[in-house]
Formats: sequence, structure tokens, C-alpha cells
Amino acid sequence: KIGAGLRNLGNTCYLNSVLQCLTYTEPFVAYLQSGKHTSSSCRAAGFCALCALQNHVRCALQSTGKILTPVQFVKNLKCISRSFRYYRQEDAHELMVNLLESMHKCCLPSGIPSQSPSAYEKSLVHRIFGGRLRSQVRCASCSHCSSKLDPFLDLSLEIGNAATLVKALQNFTEEEALDGGEKQYNCQSCKKKVVAKKRFTIDKAPDVLTIHLKRFSPFNPGQKINKKVDFHPTLNLKPFVSNSEV
Ligand SMILES: [Zn+2]
Ligand SMILES: [Zn+2]
Repeated sequence: KIGAGLRNLGNTCYLNSVLQCLTYTEPFVAYLQSGKHTSSSCRAAGFCALCALQNHVRCALQSTGKILTPVQFVKNLKCISRSFRYYRQEDAHELMVNLLESMHKCCLPSGIPSQSPSAYEKSLVHRIFGGRLRSQVRCASCSHCSSKLDPFLDLSLEIGNAATLVKALQNFTEEEALDGGEKQYNCQSCKKKVVAKKRFTIDKAPDVLTIHLKRFSPFNPGQKINKKVDFHPTLNLKPFVSNSEV
């Protein structure tokens, strides 16, 4: 079903594009419509991003062919991210990160710290958008590996050397020399400093994968990389998942 269009309130296109994406993210909308979070059960003091999105999605999907003004979000931008101002051009990725973080906190039962493993397990935001990234460091002389796992809500990919999404993911998960190939890494097995290689892989893929293409050049922050990055309707994550090479 196609819902309403959104009015640009002066530099708020970044907000509108994120709202539109979330409005059509099916598992997320199913949760909002399930009635598990309601304004009467909401414990948030002041602005609740989850309640606001619930209202927005309900209105948007009932207003096919009409134009809505996302006033609730624009008025409360500061509650979503302290650094946002409504008249300023902001970054869609930063808004998305802050909005998800804000909803993550709103949907947790009281007394659970938002950065704890049980919070990641219980939070609807992490259950829908959350994955786990493995960062593995391998000693070049004895092949001893050490791994670190980190939860993620999106993957930020460099696009400088990638014309397609698959290539950007290949670059992201490619093995690279740590410290530029210097013997800086302390191997627990060799018990000395060695040359080591590091590789990221997706340890657990999320139900809904959010990908952020880094369009701001690291060498020239004011300049946007406007090139096209091609992708297909389906994306096979298997080559980028941990231990899939065997
Ligand atoms: Zn709420
Ligand atoms: Zn070693």
C-alpha cells in the first residue's frame, strides 16, 4: 500500500527520506501495528520516538495521495539528536542512527541498560535491524586468530573503489594488513609482535539490513561523491558471512 507524500519543511528532505523508508519496512511496521507499544503503556518522559513513528505510519498509510507535514519530528529534532537544528541541512544516516537509538531506548523494559547484551536481545530495534559484526585478527606467522564481535544496526561502506554494492561489500570484508604491515600486533601464541591481518565479516545478518554508502569524501569532506552505485533487487550475503569460505 502506498501512503502519503511528505512536505519538505525547508532542508528536511533527509528526515522525509528516512521516514518514508521506515514506513515501508514491513517487520517494523508490523511491530508498530501490533499494539505492543501504546501511548498509554509508554514510559517515556516527554517525546517518544516510537510513539511518534507509530502515529506517523498510521497517518501516512491512511492518507494515500495526500501530503503530510511531519511536524512532530521537526519540532522534536533536538530530542532525537542534540546537534540537529530544523533549518539546517542534516545527514540522513545520522538521523537514522539517532532515531533507531532513540526508539531502542523507548522500547526497553525499565531497569535494563541500553548497551547491555540483554537490551540487544529484547529490543525490537535490534531484533529487526540488528546484526553482529566479527572482526578477526590473524597472525601472519602462526595463523593464530582472535575475534571480536560487535552489534551493529547498519553497515557503513566506502564507495571510492566500488561501482556496485557487491564490490563495496567485498572491499569491506577483504583481509587487510594491520598497521600497514608493520610488526605491531602482539600475538598471544607467538608471544611477540608480529605482522597481522584483519578482516571484517558478518557474523549474524540482520532481518533488515541497512546500508550506508559513504558519499562524503574522506579527503575532501565538503565534497559529495555523486557516482552511481549499482545494486540488484536481491543481495546474497553468503560471501560476506563469517566462516562461509570453507
Ligand atoms: Zn512511546
Ligand atoms: Zn602468532
